[in-house]
Amino acid sequence: MKSDVEISQETVMEPITKIAGKLGISEDQIEQYGHYKAKVNFDPTTEKPNGKLILVTSINPTAAGEGKTTVTVGLGDALNELHKKVVLALREPSLGPVMGMKGGATGGGYAQVVPMDDINLHFTGDFDALTEANNTLAALIDNHIQHGNSLNIDPRQITWKRVMDVNDRELRQVVVGLGGRTSGVPRQDGFDITVASELMAILCLATSLQDLKKRIGKMLIGYTYDRKPVLVSDLHVEGALTLLLKDAIKPNLVQTIEHTPAFIHGGPFANIAHGCNSILATQAALHFGDYAITEAGFGSDLGAEKFMDIVTPRLNQSPDCVVVVATVRALKLNGGADKKTLNEENLAALKAGVVNLKRHVEGMQRYGKPVVVAINKFASDTDDELTYLQNYVTNDLQVTGTIINSWAEGGKGAIELAKEVVSACDHPSEFHSLYSNEDSLTDKMKKIVTQIYGGNDIELSNKAKNALKRIEKMGYGNLPVCMAKTQYSFTDDAKQLGAPEDFNIHVSDLQLKLGAGFIVALTGKILTMPGLPTHPAALDMDIDEQGRITGLF
Ligand code: ADP
Ligand code: MG
Repeated sequence: MKSDVEISQETVMEPITKIAGKLGISEDQIEQYGHYKAKVNFDPTTEKPNGKLILVTSINPTAAGEGKTTVTVGLGDALNELHKKVVLALREPSLGPVMGMKGGATGGGYAQVVPMDDINLHFTGDFDALTEANNTLAALIDNHIQHGNSLNIDPRQITWKRVMDVNDRELRQVVVGLGGRTSGVPRQDGFDITVASELMAILCLATSLQDLKKRIGKMLIGYTYDRKPVLVSDLHVEGALTLLLKDAIKPNLVQTIEHTPAFIHGGPFANIAHGCNSILATQAALHFGDYAITEAGFGSDLGAEKFMDIVTPRLNQSPDCVVVVATVRALKLNGGADKKTLNEENLAALKAGVVNLKRHVEGMQRYGKPVVVAINKFASDTDDELTYLQNYVTNDLQVTGTIINSWAEGGKGAIELAKEVVSACDHPSEFHSLYSNEDSLTDKMKKIVTQIYGGNDIELSNKAKNALKRIEKMGYGNLPVCMAKTQYSFTDDAKQLGAPEDFNIHVSDLQLKLGAGFIVALTGKILTMPGLPTHPAALDMDIDEQGRITGLF
């Protein structure tokens, strides 16, 4: 079996100008980064009937991911084979998981976006620009304090952290400013991973460069000694920070192995942020394609809920169809199977685990849009397991759904699914939002917990109660809520798999993200700077004299 990077490196790519040309993007609209990558300048306000929007999400993921990107790419290639004008919109990979454990974010097998090595390693530099912009702000804050602190910023209440796109647990808590009078004011600080920066969320929610600047200006960076909020605009540096992101804001165009165009742009976490690629990339895909397929991070309880409740209102368009990816393996795990035995047939565990899929499908149906299940086939799945799951989807859940084998076969392995998705998109449907801005923050959280997670209620810690009061008093109770919860469970306990009943969600704190325009509700323990595992992927990576890369999955 060939590795993902071998398949990618064997691919004969088309020049990116040709891919752009197929979409009607002229040469003066693109800025090339080599032969196979380009940034695209486009004006989202230009008139054109928008394409159909397909949102790909999944059941609760396991550590390896369930194949949402693989399915997104396979589905795109299948639509391409059916002669539909289709464009993908995906997130950019973070180097943390690439060097760590989960791997890249370019799909797998014969359903990949290419060149996968470039996309997974720095790509067009967007994350580097974000890192620099984030840390420039950090430096400017400390510099302000060093030179007299006219804003009266309390160094103990600075909420803006430094970032790096590396899983480096050593930097979670640090002390900065040591070294005496000329080396800054000592204070406790900490690093997050770049994708956890609010700037990343903002880049993905901005609809233009000027909107980006406005949002940056609104970011909360800390509080004064008398507990008044301090914003970036108080420091007057939103212009400089926007400047650093002037190229990063432009969507990147690449292709799949089968030459389907794909915009890959932005990549916020799906817990402390909204987990979807940039609005500009999705708009570009909708603008240039008749079908746009986008992926939301983690399971439908996290990424897709946020797509529906946070992205959809800003995009001014809701999905025409939602694809829920499920695998036999993950459902067996949800049904109590041991991780080490997933390659063996286990119908009992599968039958016990399908409740997880059921809850994800029902949660998505509540938005009023057609739901299609994609059963992502692994080589170890047995015929009996696949037949059982297919029958369960058709007869018990009563939704359309089919097996997809794009990892092994590319677009050909997803033709059935593509036909089902096309007909679902033609189905007239109305979008029902889960909550309105006017709902109280408590009601918004309750609606997410009861209607999407299947829980009973929320419980706020004292800290969260105080934060809630403060936020409402400041007048921000009308913002949407971004739940930061474990991706592995509907509950806030990563170990409770399947479809748990009778549980409450424990909110430990609420954080104001004024630039992004949402309030993060922290539940359970969410790490914003991950660590590396015992055997990081980096240990197996190499590059030889011919430039052949190994170990990049
Ligand atoms: P997600 O987008 O849900 O995180 P990915 O599409 O990135 O998931 O897939 C996660 C990992 O699983 C990748 O390494 C990918 O190659 C692998 N994978 C996905 N689908 C299959 C499949 N059908 N068979 C084998 N491996 C797969
Ligand atoms: Mg993915």
